[in-house]
Amino acid sequence: MATIHPVSSGKARVAALLLCCIGMVVLSAELRGTGPAPQAQSTSAGAQEKWPAGYTDTPVLPDTRWRVHDIDRPHPRVVSPGTFSTPEQPGRPPSDAIVLFDGRDLSKWQTQGKATEAKWKVENGYMEVVAGTGSIVTKENFGDIQIHVEWAAPKQVLEKSQGRGNSGVIFMGRYEIQVLDSYDNPTYADGQASAIYGQYPPLVNPARPPGEWQVYDIVFEAPRFEGDKLVKPAYFTVFFNGVLVHNHTASMGATRHRALAKYEPHPSEGPVLLQNHEGNLVRYRNIWVRRLAPYDTK
Ligand code: MG
Repeated sequence: MATIHPVSSGKARVAALLLCCIGMVVLSAELRGTGPAPQAQSTSAGAQEKWPAGYTDTPVLPDTRWRVHDIDRPHPRVVSPGTFSTPEQPGRPPSDAIVLFDGRDLSKWQTQGKATEAKWKVENGYMEVVAGTGSIVTKENFGDIQIHVEWAAPKQVLEKSQGRGNSGVIFMGRYEIQVLDSYDNPTYADGQASAIYGQYPPLVNPARPPGEWQVYDIVFEAPRFEGDKLVKPAYFTVFFNGVLVHNHTASMGATRHRALAKYEPHPSEGPVLLQNHEGNLVRYRNIWVRRLAPYDTK
């Protein structure tokens, strides 16, 4: 149990407060890793640092050039995390994200197949499908990415099954994660919201009611080809409203309707496409991507 010493004079109180502040600053600097850098462990020196910043005498990790706790291993870039969305307010992307849509304009998008401006409606911080204007694609091409997408199906339910709030987030213009109003809406399992369309249903169905904002956080790994040969399939890891629905699942190939998916060689990067499915009035907001790179790259 700690002993509390009564502080008798005003001076002593101030001194104690100052000491306490200095202690807190030092402690906080150490917690942030900004304090004085400890020395690396030296194999020759007799005395060892209590908290070395790394080691030079540990085993090398298999299939890497780095030792366990390697002092020379590069530190990851610092990224300011964003904030989460609320139903009323979209969150803020992380600092290294490429923002594809911030609620204001479609400058990062164009009409699929035409290279003309995207003609979907933008109002009140979201974009909305306009019937007859086609699907839209990003002007920029991507390979391996993390993407954040928020969407909402029309509140008014007019049709059923695949006719209800249908759209899609389609990677490289080929590999679709389905967008559909899947709140109490029977349809084939591999066609409901967040399905790898025509291949895998989501592991569970965490859909919110139509009219509410839904959130996809997707890690997409592009397939790799050597000449005409597929050497690595595309992979999906998908969170739907924060719930895991695909866990590093290999895609069977480019999305098809009522047919088997298959791979055909294509460039290493391609656009992200948002599907205009027969003019279903789906809305999108807060779309951003981060390009992915292997470990130890800046
Ligand atoms: Mg679709």
